[in-house]
Amino acid sequence: MEKNYWEPEIETMPWERLKQLQEERLRALVKRVYQDVPFYRRRFDEVGVKPEEIDTLADVAKLPLTEYMRDFVATPLEQKLAVPWNLVTEIGSTSGTLSGFTQPLAVTEGDVEADIALQCRSNKIAGVEASDTVQLLIPLDFIVPTLKEAVSRVILSMAGRMTLDHQIKLAKVVGTTVLLGFPSQVLRFVTRAREIGIDIKRDTSLRLALLSGEPLATPVKKRLEKESGMALYEQYGFAEASMRGPIACECSQRDGLHVWADRYLVEVIDPETLEVLAPGEEGELVVTTLTKEAMPLIRYRTGDVAKILGYEPCPCGRTHPKIASVGGRVEHLIKVKGIRLLPGDIEDFIIGMSGLGNEYRIIIDKEGELERLKVRVEHAPGVEDLHALKQEVEAAFEQSTSLSCQIELVPPGALPQTQFKAQRLIKTYRGEK
Ligand SMILES: [Zn+2]
Repeated sequence: MEKNYWEPEIETMPWERLKQLQEERLRALVKRVYQDVPFYRRRFDEVGVKPEEIDTLADVAKLPLTEYMRDFVATPLEQKLAVPWNLVTEIGSTSGTLSGFTQPLAVTEGDVEADIALQCRSNKIAGVEASDTVQLLIPLDFIVPTLKEAVSRVILSMAGRMTLDHQIKLAKVVGTTVLLGFPSQVLRFVTRAREIGIDIKRDTSLRLALLSGEPLATPVKKRLEKESGMALYEQYGFAEASMRGPIACECSQRDGLHVWADRYLVEVIDPETLEVLAPGEEGELVVTTLTKEAMPLIRYRTGDVAKILGYEPCPCGRTHPKIASVGGRVEHLIKVKGIRLLPGDIEDFIIGMSGLGNEYRIIIDKEGELERLKVRVEHAPGVEDLHALKQEVEAAFEQSTSLSCQIELVPPGALPQTQFKAQRLIKTYRGEK
């Protein structure tokens, strides 16, 4: 069993005890927000639920779901605050990618301390050591003091101020050991290093990359690990839940992300019927913050697609439950004959199939349920029998997803390159090309 814990007592607390702790914290949270937060009192009253009705963890389903645009953005700050204004010590903000403008996030001293502990737990779980030098690729310099609790040196994000080539050279000269960034940034870092003649394995001390903010296709992850020699650890979090620390992280077993269950209660719901789904079923991740003081979240719809994994003890010794890595956004879910798929599932399939290139487009020509899925994909150079390849790919697709798919093969280089998954989804019914 590894001994890399930041808060061993909490990280290895028996699961039954951890669930009791969640229940105690949920009951206290519900009482507190009903009493002190006008927004939650109104929402609870709308669905007709009283704090006394929330006793066990299963009762959480009685509480109203909340959303970013409809609730978080539409409610003034003072109606979301659960503490007096004089206890708010910092104001951060959301990234604003969804609403078009950022939303203020108030935190107390206690919230900051909790975030720091989560950041430290999450560093430890990935094997970050006190002697490590962490280089930030994302401009999140406000997490530097947090990171410094657990590591020796942090190299500030030079994003926007320094070219990628200079960042790579800096990593080499300084001896950076850990990268922290979006998967696409780490991918570009590794690709560009090769182009300018720097071999990550031979010429640098890089050994770990902590990834967050975007989904990463498993085949890409494996290829990147093999090429760079770095171990890639996925982390999951979002600013409304925790400004500084991830709420879930991969451990050395690399088969899902432990959710820090003493602080977060997660559910997965069907995004259409809003019913709570069983472990193993893929749907929308919903998060309740059990300990946040200034701005707690109750059953907050993240818009992210995930599934809770069946509970079993993890060899790393941590008892916190796991979710599978977060795959994409709910709005990108494609529904074909009752089966839900993400563009990432299709990407995984394409990358794993020999004879195909990397660029593809998923074509949706009808709103709602699709009768037939179409994928336009580049074939690899040198393929002679395109008809045979098309048949082989269609059969393999059906075998791996139980769905039929119409494959259209186009020559290498025929599709413009894009880094963004969303741009690979073409909705012709909206008139988009
Ligand atoms: Zn584990």
